[in-house]
Amino acid sequence: MNENEFEIAIVGGGPAGITAALYAGRSRVRTIVLERGAVGGQLWNTADIDDYPGLSMMTGPEVAQKFEEHARKFGAKFEFGTVTKISKDGEWFVLDTDEGDQYRALAVVVTAGGEARKLGVPGETELAGMGVSYCAVCDGAFFQDRTIAVVGGGDSAVEEGAFLTRYASKVYLIHRRDEFRAAPVEVEHLDATGKVEKVLNTVVEEIVGDGKVSGVRLKNVATGEQSELAVDAVFPFVGFIPHSDIFEPGLVELDDGGHIVTDFKMETRTAGLFAAGDVRSQYVRQITNAVGDATTAALAAAAHVENAKLAGTAA
Ligand code: NAP
Repeated sequence: MNENEFEIAIVGGGPAGITAALYAGRSRVRTIVLERGAVGGQLWNTADIDDYPGLSMMTGPEVAQKFEEHARKFGAKFEFGTVTKISKDGEWFVLDTDEGDQYRALAVVVTAGGEARKLGVPGETELAGMGVSYCAVCDGAFFQDRTIAVVGGGDSAVEEGAFLTRYASKVYLIHRRDEFRAAPVEVEHLDATGKVEKVLNTVVEEIVGDGKVSGVRLKNVATGEQSELAVDAVFPFVGFIPHSDIFEPGLVELDDGGHIVTDFKMETRTAGLFAAGDVRSQYVRQITNAVGDATTAALAAAAHVENAKLAGTAA
């Protein structure tokens, strides 16, 4: 194999990618992890990890460092790279990166995660970085004793909303329904902060401000009533867009939300191409099931490589 050829290539270095690297390394297959940001992925944007057995009360960045340290022990190579295209050339998968590199691998595990969905309202793009933020850990401290609006009703909105009460004097949680998708225990944590006011059945129609956020224009979806709320920052946490647009047509099947469909081995419709973590079509998106599914994917990928070598199809 030349220096850009690997037995397994892992796309993305979040919890799923790190776990796949650990298991691929333990299987003694030549493995590369391509990550376009910091190894650890979304862990770097997560305040506290409170739902991973044994890691209670650790911060996301602490867990990211521990995970990476552990995976590196088993020999996987981590490279900076933004994979923009995955295609096939005979038995090989070909991975092209934005940086102009090309890698070849006998099996690929895609753990590319995704990114925050935007609200798509006026003012959001214009005021990004000037009070509009998608990362509570990164930007929460800028709003000490200020008023913050968090938008959404899922786990991210509720957990990050509770985290932001460490800094803010008040957090408004604006949600378009009157029921939460978030785990009930997280809603209880949020309520226990005593600093959160829920604004339900309400959507944000505009983020306003001149050079920095000064408020949000709201509409109550039940009554149609419009109002304005003065806030210093807006943190939308309204879902997640999977990074699944990197495949040659036909290689993978996607669900309605753009997540990659796999079988029980985490294998896509293309033999040797696997997916795990938030990019995969599944019922829940937790670190625990991401690392579990990545374990399956890496071991199945290692078996695929072994079979390809036994069949003599890989030079
Ligand atoms: P999510 O679960 O999809 O929730 C998105 C929330 O945003 C929903 O409440 C949704 O409202 C609302 N929403 C969507 N589009 C909107 C719009 N245009 N305007 C206003 N509100 C909008 O997304 P998430 O919270 O980012 O979580 C993504 C996945 O990661 C989930 O599977 C979640 O469980 C997981 N996660 C887990 C943890 C954890 O375990 N600790 C932490 C974070 C995330 P509706 O409810 O009305 O649809």
